[in-house]
Amino acid sequence: MPTTPDLPALVANVARGERHAALLATPTDPPTEVPAFALRGARPGPTLLVTAGVHGAEYASIEAAYRLAALDPTDLSGTLVVLPIVNRTAYRVRAIYGNPIDGKNLNRQFPGDPAGTFAPRLAHWLTDAWVRHADAYLDLHGGDLNEALTPFVLHARGDEGARALAEAFGIPYVIASSSAGHSYSGAATLGVPAVLAEAGGQGLFPERDVLVLVEGACRAMRHLGMLAGEPTPRPIVSIERFVVLTSDHEGRWYPRVRLDARVEEGDVLGEIRDLLGAVVQSVTAPVAGTVLYYVSTLAIDRGDPLVGIGAGAASD
Ligand SMILES: [Zn+2]
Repeated sequence: MPTTPDLPALVANVARGERHAALLATPTDPPTEVPAFALRGARPGPTLLVTAGVHGAEYASIEAAYRLAALDPTDLSGTLVVLPIVNRTAYRVRAIYGNPIDGKNLNRQFPGDPAGTFAPRLAHWLTDAWVRHADAYLDLHGGDLNEALTPFVLHARGDEGARALAEAFGIPYVIASSSAGHSYSGAATLGVPAVLAEAGGQGLFPERDVLVLVEGACRAMRHLGMLAGEPTPRPIVSIERFVVLTSDHEGRWYPRVRLDARVEEGDVLGEIRDLLGAVVQSVTAPVAGTVLYYVSTLAIDRGDPLVGIGAGAASD
């Protein structure tokens, strides 16, 4: 039978230099079982929590979490805890953004609500039983099944520990975010430095994208003193504003953007045609910046995101 321990209870069963794997029952309605791995290093050190699968179809990040769970515990100082598929019902049905129980986006629910529906309760369990007990937290994401994305990391604006962790991750685009409800913003309310790192998308998990996240997490672990070797600083592009354009219509979406490309204010980024063929929305860049992601499916609905632009870098 699966059990419902918290982070300290899971780790308490693991000897130094050993790994423990378990299925955990979530205190949700309905309950789900999610995989968990605890790696206790040969030497003492901080406790790092890594999650993936908050969005169930972001496969490069889920695969990266499994790679991290397969590290040799004897190489570690401290404890690495990995929950690679926290939103298992979403994973099972390949849900985009939401989940099949209450339809809510888990990454808008943090720090969660124990009296809420499925997603807020899951967020509360992750916050209270796991994030709270960690010294640092990495939440791995990517473009969803319908999104093409160039790698970037997000952290809570004004959180110096999280900023240092984000820069250590070594993905060039680092975004300071003021948004509430996200995994990293929930962690910030507990004083746990946290980063949300994104790579991959479109339902794929090429080795290139998996390694962006695995190697970034390893650099973060060097920064935390959990892996041997000096942290090697990498160039950072600091993004001050993340501007997400959305659709005003249901219809067909024709993106005309390239990932990681520079756009100027007023540039046409694509158009939407309605179901009878008329052009109903010409999408232009409201700011200069860099295309960090775009929706790559023909199908689009009213309110859907279209393009994410990172703005406010020194070059803008
Ligand atoms: Zn995501």
